[in-house]
Amino acid sequence: MRKKERKDLALKTWDLLSEAFPDASCSLDVDRPERLAVRGILSAQCTDVRVNITAAELFEKYPLMSDIDALSEEALQQIIKPCGLYKMKAKSIKTFANLYCREWGGKVPDDVRKLMKCPGVGKKIANLIVGEVYGIPAVVVDTHCKRVMYRIGITDNTDPLKVEKDITDVFPKECWISLGHKAVELGRTFCSSRAPSCDTCPLGEICNKRIKVK
Ligand code: SF4
Repeated sequence: MRKKERKDLALKTWDLLSEAFPDASCSLDVDRPERLAVRGILSAQCTDVRVNITAAELFEKYPLMSDIDALSEEALQQIIKPCGLYKMKAKSIKTFANLYCREWGGKVPDDVRKLMKCPGVGKKIANLIVGEVYGIPAVVVDTHCKRVMYRIGITDNTDPLKVEKDITDVFPKECWISLGHKAVELGRTFCSSRAPSCDTCPLGEICNKRIKVK
């Protein structure tokens, strides 16, 4: 598909997604920026519901990043265990708390590259943070977003970084932050990975319906 066609498809996609999911928003709790970052680290291969529950327990006991910085890795592991991959995540959260307290002056950076210095913070989470916290245009390409953008025909790629590039090439900047959330809603409601409901899907008329993901 030529770029002009993709751009047209992107605009139609945006209109239909906006109509179907006008209130789509981040499903991780967003209170303080540093807490969102910790939730982002916890979210790898875990549901947002579980992350919100576990993070609430963590922050009730240890409300400040300095508390987490002072906490032993083992104690942190015990609290975050329900989110899975807890050893790796505890290491990442400890590093984040350390950077936040000692290198970043108690402020979450508004710079994707700086954020990605922390293990466990990849492009997806860094984009989520700069978008939600600072309103900087960035697309969060998670597994739902990747799948629906491929099926619709916006991208021919499945690598998240390439998908992000394809999306940002054709969608206007003003859409980027909300687009990721709307795509997740579409993926959760109509365009599930195993059984997409194309007959009732609000994008049915414009979608290329490429169900077989490469
Ligand atoms: S029409 Fe089908 S493949 Fe396309 S977005 Fe909707 S559910 Fe997914």
